[in-house]
Amino acid sequence: MMDFDPDALDIPAGHYIDAARVAAPDALDVRRPSDGRAYGRLALADEAMVARAAESARRAFRRGTWSRIAPRERGRVMRRWADLIERDAIAVARLEAVGSTRLIREVIGWDVPHVADIIRFYGELVDKHGGEVKATASRHLGMTVAEPYGVVAAIAPWNYPLVIAAWKVAPAIAAGNAVILKPSEMTPYTAIRLAELAAEAGLPQGIFNVVQGDGPTTGEALVRHCDVGKVTFTGSTAAGARIMALAAGHGLKPVTLELGGKSPQLVLADADLALASRSIARSILSNAGQVCVAGSRLVADRSIADDLIERLVAAMSQIAPGPTWHGATNYSPIVSRRQLDRIDRLVRESIDSGAEAVIGGRTLAGHGDGCFFSPTILTGVKAESVAVREEVFGPVLTVETFESLEEGVALAAHPDYGLAAGVYTRDISKALGAMRDIEAGTVWINRYGRSDDLAIPTGGFKRSGFGKDLGREAFEANLRFKSVLIDIAP
Ligand code: NAD
Repeated sequence: MMDFDPDALDIPAGHYIDAARVAAPDALDVRRPSDGRAYGRLALADEAMVARAAESARRAFRRGTWSRIAPRERGRVMRRWADLIERDAIAVARLEAVGSTRLIREVIGWDVPHVADIIRFYGELVDKHGGEVKATASRHLGMTVAEPYGVVAAIAPWNYPLVIAAWKVAPAIAAGNAVILKPSEMTPYTAIRLAELAAEAGLPQGIFNVVQGDGPTTGEALVRHCDVGKVTFTGSTAAGARIMALAAGHGLKPVTLELGGKSPQLVLADADLALASRSIARSILSNAGQVCVAGSRLVADRSIADDLIERLVAAMSQIAPGPTWHGATNYSPIVSRRQLDRIDRLVRESIDSGAEAVIGGRTLAGHGDGCFFSPTILTGVKAESVAVREEVFGPVLTVETFESLEEGVALAAHPDYGLAAGVYTRDISKALGAMRDIEAGTVWINRYGRSDDLAIPTGGFKRSGFGKDLGREAFEANLRFKSVLIDIAP
């Protein structure tokens, strides 16, 4: 029932500026990870096209038909926007699934409803948070007034194209900003539909623009542009560092950076192993490990490690790889040949330096030019092994063991990353102690992964970035607070 014909979709070409599609010369093929076929072309916004989008956003912001209206009215438009996404859920889901690693069953079951929910969440939050009156001497009235930045640039990755675009765009727009979104060059198209549905819901012209292109040309032009007041980015640590440097050199604009991770799963001897193995397997199989918070480092008490690995091998043997447009597929392709080769190289290097693949460790043949990698567990690794140190961004789980909790917590720490961590134990004191000791932006206890509680923010420590997506925190990050002090005449 969920199956669809990948060649029968309408692919939106060009950019989306001032509430209209803008045709542009295209530069590159866009390929489907499932079968490697080119299914669309990528327009590449140069400096002039980025300036056109910035001009549209700046004008729309200054017009005040969005930034200055009653927050409740903004909320109404946002909620209508969410309703329209649900109305078009199937069409949007197909466009998302066809060219990404997201499976149609998951996009229909989770991504699209989640996107509608995020937009609704910020539409509901918009009139609940502004500035506040501060405690001052009674001869003054002191307050903070929350104001939008003006034009916010949002740069998104390919792994959850629509979801992460919504995490960025919804709070920025709800806060009254105009936005220019640059989706990944590998998954460019659903962003256009997201913006068109916003316009249909009543979002004023120019408040949500989309420019297509790669990082060095389009992304950097966007960060540099003098009308951009804030940058919100999700992607690799290397690109995040480059963006931060550019933002510092071009107007000292604030940045929110959601970057890479190498997150541990710490399993103590008393853990519920059925629960832990289900949760760990899901976290590394989901989107074939192409998840920023993938729990890719298992750190297990030596006494239960073999039992746990056996359960994980069983869970990881249940995969049904295939095209994202088949409803029966439960295991995603890898986004590109380049990424597949990188995963393969990192696994090979680890095996050459002494690791053992107890399952997987190879690319999966039989899918034509589609890119698939088998779920992989690597034992015999050391803290300095490349598969333990580097973000693989694929279905690869390393295993390290410990004998004392202190040793386990020390192994769980990563020298660079601090995005997320899982802790499994029935002992609440040990769980909370580990939570305190682990330096990560999120700690999940006896579960792994986000829930539907959009109020809980997400974001990393150390080289996993700073600032938050989701929650009230992301809304406030799109506002700046002006302090006002009034003297009251005696
Ligand atoms: P990437 O850094 O290659 O690209 C991300 C986006 O940035 C793309 O739109 C790209 O075109 C753009 N970009 C690249 N270089 C740029 C530059 N110099 N200037 C401006 N824009 C630039 O990352 P990716 O491969 O698309 O995504 C995978 C990475 O994203 C992984 O490291 C993953 O951990 C991370 N990620 C993090 C989170 C999080 O919430 N922390 C969520 C998802 C993905």
